[in-house]
Amino acid sequence: MLKLVSLCKRRGFIYPGSEIYGGLKGTWDYGPLGNELKFNLKQEWWKTMVKEQENVVGVSAAILMSPKVWEASGHTQSFSDPLIECKICHQRFKADQEELIKEHEKLHLKKKEKVEWTEPKKFNLLVEAKLGVVEGEKNITYLRGEITQGVHVNFKNVLNSSRLKIPFGIAQIGKAFRNEITPGNFTYRSIEFEQMELQYYIKPDEKESMKQYELFKNMRMDWYKNLGIKKDKLRFREHAKDELAHYAKAAWDIEYNTPFGWKECEGIHHRGDWDLSRHQKYSGQDMSYFDEETKEKFIPWAIETSGGVDRATLFFLIEAYSEEKDPAGDGASRVVLKLHPKLAPYKVAVFPLLKNKPELVKKARGIYQNLKKNFEVDWDERGNIGKRYFAQDEIGTPFCITVDFETMENDTVTVRERDTMKQERIKISEIKEFLEKKINE
Ligand code: ATP
Repeated sequence: MLKLVSLCKRRGFIYPGSEIYGGLKGTWDYGPLGNELKFNLKQEWWKTMVKEQENVVGVSAAILMSPKVWEASGHTQSFSDPLIECKICHQRFKADQEELIKEHEKLHLKKKEKVEWTEPKKFNLLVEAKLGVVEGEKNITYLRGEITQGVHVNFKNVLNSSRLKIPFGIAQIGKAFRNEITPGNFTYRSIEFEQMELQYYIKPDEKESMKQYELFKNMRMDWYKNLGIKKDKLRFREHAKDELAHYAKAAWDIEYNTPFGWKECEGIHHRGDWDLSRHQKYSGQDMSYFDEETKEKFIPWAIETSGGVDRATLFFLIEAYSEEKDPAGDGASRVVLKLHPKLAPYKVAVFPLLKNKPELVKKARGIYQNLKKNFEVDWDERGNIGKRYFAQDEIGTPFCITVDFETMENDTVTVRERDTMKQERIKISEIKEFLEKKINE
């Protein structure tokens, strides 16, 4: 982890937030490469969960919402309860829930872990925000603690402004904020983070809803695998009774085997009609759906897939980080980020073999400018080719193209592949097609 954290800072993936002022605990800033990686990850999620679906649309709700939303969702309730938090898994209990606390300790004991608890405190996850300009007359609201509610409060708006019929889904990607008492493990647990969520509304039906639930569970697991996480590093974990929200009909997490243990990267939750019926109760607005065909009126159930953008980014980085001996070189070890090409910040880097040969530089610049229209491309002319390969390996660039003297004769270039280090010659006119094929393989 320390090596990865250092690489992230050194190469411009992730920096500590507000670093020049000594940092702000639990906040992180994404540098040029981290920003690209995160952007690619969100795009891949949107592609799978929205674009490729027939009945899913997206929204982008405000971060600041009426404080009543958080009453309806139950988030403000715990303001008055002293809570303790398990320092291992961060689950919280009311300090007087002795039985649940004992049961929780037993669960950890089975894994040979001894629970340490935080002091009982009245605390709440929600980050307060004061709105208004006149001191003393400000209204308290909150930075949203989850992006979920921004979707549910817009259920009727989306329904009435589209031709969607149940079943349908509403997706959103956006920031959420939580006053975590124990932020840590790099970006894993932050105060400010991004979520990517789908709320899928269905007809209330136990059997059918569980079928749909299973489909989403598998779809989400496949997403991580297809983007390069090894099968044996991922697992499903069902929520234990004491952590299952009282309204949830089913809840499973997808976990990744990190250097600090198996950790949640995404939750798939069957939320029943909890959210819509609570909003109906607290807002006084009708949140039901009328089925034209069956003439039935009901409050739909929601199945949620809720993943963390920053957590997924971190887990893909952990998975990608590798150190290996370079058999082609002098046996020196190289650091490679074996990111899936779809996620890699740069898809390709272009170099002239020698920077003091203007004809090579000119030719390489032409290729670079041309590829930039379709791909994220890096340019490097420093040092020797070997050093440039090493530098690109370290930031996960899957392909490097070198323009050499042969290029001037027959319009071909050398393409070197990051993971296998194999090199092949291809025609300049075929580079675009070659890259497209390789990236989408
Ligand atoms: P945890 O048990 O780790 O606190 P959670 O069960 O409270 O997570 P959810 O409320 O289900 O998490 O949020 C959905 C997703 O949002 C999580 O799976 C995780 O990827 C992400 N997430 C939640 N809290 C944080 C955080 N503090 N920092 C980074 N990502 C987070």
